[in-house]
Amino acid sequence: MPRFDPTVERVAYYGRSPRDLVTCPVCRSGLLSDFQSYLLATKDAEGASEAFLLGGDYGLFCPNCPTVVLDGDRIVTALRMAMAGAPFSAWLAMGIVDLSSWPADKRSCPLDEVIDDLTIAHFSDRRPLEQPLVHGPLVGLSDEERRKRRSRLKRERQDRARGKRR
Ligand SMILES: [Zn+2]
Repeated sequence: MPRFDPTVERVAYYGRSPRDLVTCPVCRSGLLSDFQSYLLATKDAEGASEAFLLGGDYGLFCPNCPTVVLDGDRIVTALRMAMAGAPFSAWLAMGIVDLSSWPADKRSCPLDEVIDDLTIAHFSDRRPLEQPLVHGPLVGLSDEERRKRRSRLKRERQDRARGKRR
């Protein structure tokens, strides 16, 4: 059973490696992992789309506002497995499916035969996570400390780039 109500309309943030993200990008509350079922759509190079239901702990939920942060890297990995290697050029998280709405007499039906019967809370917006956002070690840092950290990271990048050229 999911902890968070799957019928609530949420804003989905997604991006690379949000696993160590600890606070909500909107209200800074502590995020909580939850198991939910997601409706995903993929597009191949010809523009043909396909729908998938993916259940798992791919989202970090805010207990204070309707925000979920999706782990895009892990979703892509799971989609690749679900599609058995078939290539796709784009994917989109459509929303969260309330699995209890799946009709009892259609338990073994494929998704496209029951999709109209399902209660789906479509995401009201999808926003990219900016990197780095508020990762664990950055919480509580002052502006001065952030500035120092940024210039240190920049120096490290430049050192690495110089190292490569050598
Ligand atoms: Zn929040």
